[in-house]
Amino acid sequence: TSAPAPLEDQVWTPPAGGFWAGSWQDGDRRMPVRDPEDGSTVGSVVDTTDAEVDRAVAHLAEHWRPGCWPLWQRRRALESTADELSRSVDRFTAIIAAEGCKTVSEARAEVSRAVETLELAAHAAASLSGRTVPFDNTPRGLGWTGWHTREPLGIVAAITPFNDPLNLVAHKLGPALVADNAVVLKPAEQTPLSALALVELLLRNGVPGDRIAAVPGRTSGQALVRHPRIDVVSFTGGPRTADRIAQAGPARKLLMELGGNNALIVCSDADPDRVATAVVDGAFGVAGQNCLSVQRVLVHASRYRAVLERVVSAARDLVVGSKRDPATDVGPMIDADAAERVVRWIDEAVTGGATLHTGGQRRGTFVRPAVLTGAPSDARVRTDEVFGPVVLLDPFTDTTAAIDAANAVNTGLQAGVFTQDIDRAMTIANALTVGAVLINSTSDFRIDAMPFGGFKRSGIGREGVESAVQQLTEPKIIAINTG
Ligand code: NAD
Repeated sequence: TSAPAPLEDQVWTPPAGGFWAGSWQDGDRRMPVRDPEDGSTVGSVVDTTDAEVDRAVAHLAEHWRPGCWPLWQRRRALESTADELSRSVDRFTAIIAAEGCKTVSEARAEVSRAVETLELAAHAAASLSGRTVPFDNTPRGLGWTGWHTREPLGIVAAITPFNDPLNLVAHKLGPALVADNAVVLKPAEQTPLSALALVELLLRNGVPGDRIAAVPGRTSGQALVRHPRIDVVSFTGGPRTADRIAQAGPARKLLMELGGNNALIVCSDADPDRVATAVVDGAFGVAGQNCLSVQRVLVHASRYRAVLERVVSAARDLVVGSKRDPATDVGPMIDADAAERVVRWIDEAVTGGATLHTGGQRRGTFVRPAVLTGAPSDARVRTDEVFGPVVLLDPFTDTTAAIDAANAVNTGLQAGVFTQDIDRAMTIANALTVGAVLINSTSDFRIDAMPFGGFKRSGIGREGVESAVQQLTEPKIIAINTG
């Protein structure tokens, strides 16, 4: 395949500033969107005020009625949006790579994935069915007949993070819309352009303007989650924001996709070359800014040296640089604060006794991929989600101890296991408290057809397109007294 065209050769126009009350809006306030690589301005969007958020929600609440927009039209709108997106890969690649942290090839892969997500959302139309209820299963039910349907919840507030600026937005909007909800989107303040460009596409392909709103901004998320007319908050982001959202409004349905601190268990029969390639890919892609990033690698003592040497050597070879350069493996972090925090956490671990084998140097928003061993048990690189290009390796001799170590964090998103022994793989998989165990892979694998989410502080509910459609609907019983 040929290398993607450099960003500056791709022509794209930024989408308009915000969308609510059925039309594109310039808003009272604007905010710049900057390229994290060099701070240059790549566009501007509305910095939606509280009053404008109120108008956006009020408009949806006033116009939304379940059952008025037929399922076949909802499905067609998503199919046709997926189709147009698949014909607009260059434009969307350029937008993601300009405002976000992804290299051009990472951005291009995200656009293809968003096409799949919208197609899956259209297919999920088929899952919107109920079933009959066996009323004669209790004596008091005799003389009744009935069934349940799946009903939309109403107005969904969809709040998304910066790291997958298009696909995570598609994953919120597609399921919410096919399930007959209205949705108001608050994209990450760092990456609103990809989200707004997708909203443009949805509107052009048949989504009615009174089903969707987009309120980018620095404080619009807070205004949205406080709003009394929001029926459900579907949030993807960090755990601290999740706590604020849980405390911000009245009791209502909360769906939350939060962070991970993902482990990999490498058994004595694993191939060190294969493991090292997978670790470097899973730990350092998008500069580690990925909820599925590999953070802790537990390696059987018999393979530890071999895996460590290979991971260190491959990490040293990674090209850290501009997203625009096709030779780049690792692009920038989202801002200098995030890069500084990662370096500070590495320094703390080293002060506490860890060995830094490679990486950890910062230049602006760029951090060289870091490999650590011997991190103390209370080091934040071990206990918290790093969300940066850092991986820890630890040896083990006892599999049960490795499982306990993998589980010894307050999140449980995904985990990987490398072994050729299916019995051992199953023993480990059954004991890990995570939403998915990937055998002979790292934690960093997902297709949007999988039910997706985690245990403990990794979230509430499940995404994956079909699961999201289930979560964004509830059964409604219709029962007839025939007696
Ligand atoms: P973040 O929590 O800082 O921001 C996420 C979104 O919440 C942004 O749109 C932000 O503007 C908004 N927000 C911030 N404060 C708010 C408030 N008080 N009320 C309402 N909205 C508010 O997260 P981030 O830094 O953009 O993303 C990184 C985090 O997201 C990581 O923890 C990562 O693991 C997680 N993440 C999870 C998944 C998943 O599917 N589980 C996927 C990607 C990222």
